[in-house]
Amino acid sequence: MTAQDPRLTGETVELLQALIRNACVNDGTTASGQEVRNADLLDDALDGLPRQHFEPLPGRRSILATVEGRDPDAPSILLMGHTDVVPVTPDEWRHDPFGGELIDDEVWGRGAVDMLNLTASMAVAIRELHRRPEPPAVTVRFLGVADEEAGGVWGADWITQHAWDQVACDYVLTESGGIPFDTPDGRKLVMATAEKGIGWRKLIVHGPPSHGSMPFGTDNALVTASEVVRRLAAYLPTARLDDRWRAWVRTLPIDDDLRKRLLDPDTIGAALGDLDPTLARYCHAVTHTTFSPNVVAGGNKTNIIPDRVELEVDIRTVPGVAEHDVEAMLAEAIGPDLLHKVDVESLTTTRPASASSADTPMFELLRRRAEAAHPGAEVMPWTIVGGTDAAFFRDRGVPAYGAGLYSGAITLPEFASRFHGHDERIDVASLGLSTQLWLDLADGLTDVS
Ligand SMILES: [Zn+2]
Repeated sequence: MTAQDPRLTGETVELLQALIRNACVNDGTTASGQEVRNADLLDDALDGLPRQHFEPLPGRRSILATVEGRDPDAPSILLMGHTDVVPVTPDEWRHDPFGGELIDDEVWGRGAVDMLNLTASMAVAIRELHRRPEPPAVTVRFLGVADEEAGGVWGADWITQHAWDQVACDYVLTESGGIPFDTPDGRKLVMATAEKGIGWRKLIVHGPPSHGSMPFGTDNALVTASEVVRRLAAYLPTARLDDRWRAWVRTLPIDDDLRKRLLDPDTIGAALGDLDPTLARYCHAVTHTTFSPNVVAGGNKTNIIPDRVELEVDIRTVPGVAEHDVEAMLAEAIGPDLLHKVDVESLTTTRPASASSADTPMFELLRRRAEAAHPGAEVMPWTIVGGTDAAFFRDRGVPAYGAGLYSGAITLPEFASRFHGHDERIDVASLGLSTQLWLDLADGLTDVS
């Protein structure tokens, strides 16, 4: 691995601070985000490189920059970083969430780990490739993309549908990888090769309206909805245990009996209860299609028994689960005695789980770089239980990985707690490692076979 260049690390720090301060907060409404501010910032930072813009809605601008490689036969790389962030609860933060302050070698602010840190490091890396007297062998593109935090509708989803020729490539690198964690079996790093699918639903629960003064024996839609919610929360579909899961279980700090029970679809449900609660939450999510009832709306007057209650359910599917499977699972969870009172509608876009092979030259190169940064560590492919923009490229057959490279100062549990959490921040060493990683990938890809 090439040593980190303090000059480039400093540039990434500065760019990250500016991206944070622009506060492109995406609350899911089409008018939010206003990523044009970060697109303009990146536009200035990448002055001199060929660039294009995509702006399907006013203010929801994404930017693409390209460094042409000198070998037309070499594979091409797309570095994709989103420019939006999720909202904050400012009172819960120790420092201004949009101050981008550098405090004790850490940059603070919303987006510092998700994922303005990587977006900044990618932009600095491609600018550095452009500055060099000799272009890299491979073509490298940087896509600073809007709207990832609300499903990519005005960002990667739109771009891959409407401007595929501009972003088509051989590999995509984006968020959630290169994060170390320590196990009884030594240090590991995760690199994301897969993610769960999204199958959000609205459930509309019906019942006849009547007067709230005489509730006895009435068919109250809110009471029915509460039982539907209870059943969804208790529902445990069949587990799906794949190779990534088996490798993951091997690293857990648990005894052999528990390990064995976690590897058996018949016993995993009960075994999850014996894990540390934070770990159990991930282990459950990565092996099961999950149903989380998160929004309720219904009733409009204290003295009227409601006839309609709407529930929004966040459903995340494991690989192999299709839309009709989601419907069947919902029917099973709700039960025949209540199902006839419930209409089910799809919410937003749904998409199946996606995975890329770890058996590619790019993944091999990621593995080598990560192992060089953390000597003795083992790189493990892992599944992201949320959604990222990688899925839009995997759907079109392009291997896409959640990458990056973090120092030992931020391990996986810490990363997870800062992701969409309070006091989000990133250490400067991690910013330097990720910046160098993208350069090393551009320089090294043609040497790996
Ligand atoms: Zn993200």
